[in-house]
This record gives sequence, structure tokens and C-alpha cells, in this order.
Amino acid sequence: MIKAIAGTKDILPENIRLWKHLESLVEKEMVLFNFKEIRTPIFEETALFSHGIGEATDIVSKEMYTFTDRSGTSVSLKPEMTASVVRAFIEHELNKKANFYKLFYISPMFRQERPQAGRLRQFHQFGAEAIGSNDPIVDAEIIIIANNILKNLGLKNFEIKINSLGIPTSREKYKEELRKYLGDKLDSLSEDSKKRFKTNILRIFDSKNETDRKIMAGAPTILDYLDDESREHFENVKQLLSESNVPVTVDHKLVRGLDYYTNTTFEIISKSVGAQSALCGGGRYNLLIEQLGGKPVPATGFAAGIERILLACENEKSINLKDEELDIYLVRLDKDKKDKVFAIANFLRKNGLITELDYLLRSVKAQMREANRLNSKYVLMIGGDEFLRNAAVLKNMQSGEQEEVILDNLDGIVKRIESVK
Ligand code: AMP
Repeated sequence: MIKAIAGTKDILPENIRLWKHLESLVEKEMVLFNFKEIRTPIFEETALFSHGIGEATDIVSKEMYTFTDRSGTSVSLKPEMTASVVRAFIEHELNKKANFYKLFYISPMFRQERPQAGRLRQFHQFGAEAIGSNDPIVDAEIIIIANNILKNLGLKNFEIKINSLGIPTSREKYKEELRKYLGDKLDSLSEDSKKRFKTNILRIFDSKNETDRKIMAGAPTILDYLDDESREHFENVKQLLSESNVPVTVDHKLVRGLDYYTNTTFEIISKSVGAQSALCGGGRYNLLIEQLGGKPVPATGFAAGIERILLACENEKSINLKDEELDIYLVRLDKDKKDKVFAIANFLRKNGLITELDYLLRSVKAQMREANRLNSKYVLMIGGDEFLRNAAVLKNMQSGEQEEVILDNLDGIVKRIESVK
């Protein structure tokens, strides 16, 4: 038997409601902040991601699903969305239509990582990108949106970490200091970190290796190397968040894996999901748009992992959805009333009632059982003596009350059920 590829998951009907619930909360929040939805293709030219995210990042160097298509072009399934949104922004010259754009998305992403709880090869993110402003208010709002969505999902057990990576010149100065600090400790670092020392030194902060962590605990902090403007920007963002009652923890070790960040970076960590604890990450990327061929436009954004968030919701039992319900189940008392039942169902559905009927020629008892299993609010029993009088029995499944209704007056049934909805 052929099974789904490791690291991919079917989302079955019983789970779809949770997904839709989350998606509707995301959309609601984005609308409140006047973000507009954008959808981009599942795959792009590989060069977009290697230029945009950075050759030395784990995503580009190890995790992308890359293949050559029949015309010889190297394409990759999107591993994240920022590069795609920026590509679309430049390609469609959105900067000419408005000076400031606020965009959001909900989309599958693809990374060939080792699958484990909370880590998939096809996963889903929602996220936002605000393009065109360097105002700290935008940094703060991006974090507030992410925070609000998690709160609206009922999550409590999470922490927002925030840092500033400054601008490239100050960061280079800091990297120099870091190189000096690590110079005589290189031999003790893990093999991975030795590599990162050459390719992406800041990423050594992400190492899970105990010795690496001990060494990095004594490292100089990037916040001491910020230029004045970046420092003021960072202070402003923190101030705005504090005024908005969004608690954040400053973590100078939060470097994030991608090359394109400048100034603010943040991550939301959950204590409810085990090792893969990052629910959301983001920050400011003032250089990316120019780097990808656009005008120099400042921007900021975030991406959040839907599977991990839903795992946190499950572990915190934070969502209680009402059971699914039907408005009405049509029980066929006699076999020869099939066509009549079908016609009544058509009418009721046209008039907005969620209507179900029996397709398996089941006994009356089995049909009643099915109506119960489906949480039907009403049952209409069609056939028997009542049918000879052009009537049927309508049963309220909650109260057990029954009444006779005239089949010529299906409108009356609709009104009755609508009135208790
Ligand atoms: P990143 O762009 O790597 O910061 O990812 C943003 C968010 O997407 C993370 O905080 C996770 O919640 C989620 N995420 C990233 N990679 C995966 C993955 N392989 N499986 C599931 N969720 C992921």
C-alpha cells in the first residue's frame, strides 16, 4: 500500500474544523489591522530563495525541495513566504500603487527536515509582511498581531523573545568581536559550530550542543554594538509593546537563521509543545527588497507554524469547538418515498438548511440512529399514514416533541427551524 510521504500529513475532516477555526481567527485579526491577503505560487525559481534567504542558511543549503523542470530551470518548492511576497511586490510594482503595503498569507511550505513531533516536510504557515515603513509602530504591530492570534486561540503558555540585529555595519563589527571571543575556543566547539564560525557565525547561538551553549553564554552581546539609530528603534519598539501590555523578554542570543534581518527580530516560544518550541518568528528586513532587485524599501513581518500552534492548543486544551450539527435529517418510513425525500431535501437545502438523508436504504431505526449520531436538531419522518394526508412528522430531537406538518408548506418548516438557529 502506498502511504503519505514521511513528514507530510493528511488533514482529515475531523481536524479541518480546528484548522478553519484558526484560519478564521487569523483572517479576523488581519482584517482588523487592515492587512490584505496575498497568494503566491507553490514553487519559484531556486535563485529567488538562494538570493533572498541566503546560501549559507540551513534552509537553502540543506532543506529545499529543488529540482530541474523539463525546460532545464532549477525550481524549488517554497520553504517560506517572505522571498515570494517580496518577489511579487517587485514584479507587480506594488510600490507604485501605494507607499505602504500590509499583506498576509496562509500557505503550505516545504522543507526537507528530519520529521519529528512539530517538524514536518510539508507544513503550513500564516504570516504577515508590512512593506514600506521603518516606523517602530509597525514592528510593534506585527508582534501584537501574532500575540493576539495566539491569545484568541486560548494559548497562555508562551513567551515572546525579542532582539535587535542592528544594521550590517554594526553587525559586522559585532561579528568581528565574536570571532575574537571564539578564536581561542574554536577547538572546543562542535563540528557544526566550527562550520558556522566560517559561514554564519551568529548561528552558533542556535546550537543545542551543551559545550557550545556554555561558551556562547559568555559571548559579547550584539546589543552593545548597535548604532544609535538602531538602539533608539529597539527602545521604541519595546516601549510601544509595553504600552500595549504585550510582555516581551529581551534575548540577545536570538539571531534567527536567515540573512535578511535588520534591527528587530522576535520569536514566540511555547512551553507546551516539546523540543520544537518556536511557534512564530519574524522581524525587520530593510535590505531584502533592494537585494532582490527592487527599490530600497524597509519592511517587517512574521511567520507562524500552524501545526505547532494547533499542537500547543491541543496540549493546553485551549479550544472547545461546539459539536457539529445538522439542521434536519429526513427519515424515509417507506422504501417508495425515495424520490419524495430527495425533492424535499433539495427544497430545504435551497432554503439554507443543512439537510441529510439516507443513501443506504437503511431501516427506520437505523436512520434515527444516524440522525442522532449526526446531532441533527430535527428529524422529518416521511411516509406512513401521515403521507396519505400529505403530511409528515417533524420531531425536535432535543425536546422529543413531535408535530404534524403539511408537506405543501415546507416553507413553514424552514421558518420554524431558522427561528431556533
Ligand atoms: P521560520 O521561518 O523557520 O522561523 O519558521 C516560522 C515558523 O514556522 C516556526 O516558528 C515554526 O512554528 C514553523 N516551522 C518552521 N519549520 C517547520 C517545520 N519543518 N515543521 C513545522 N513547522 C515549522
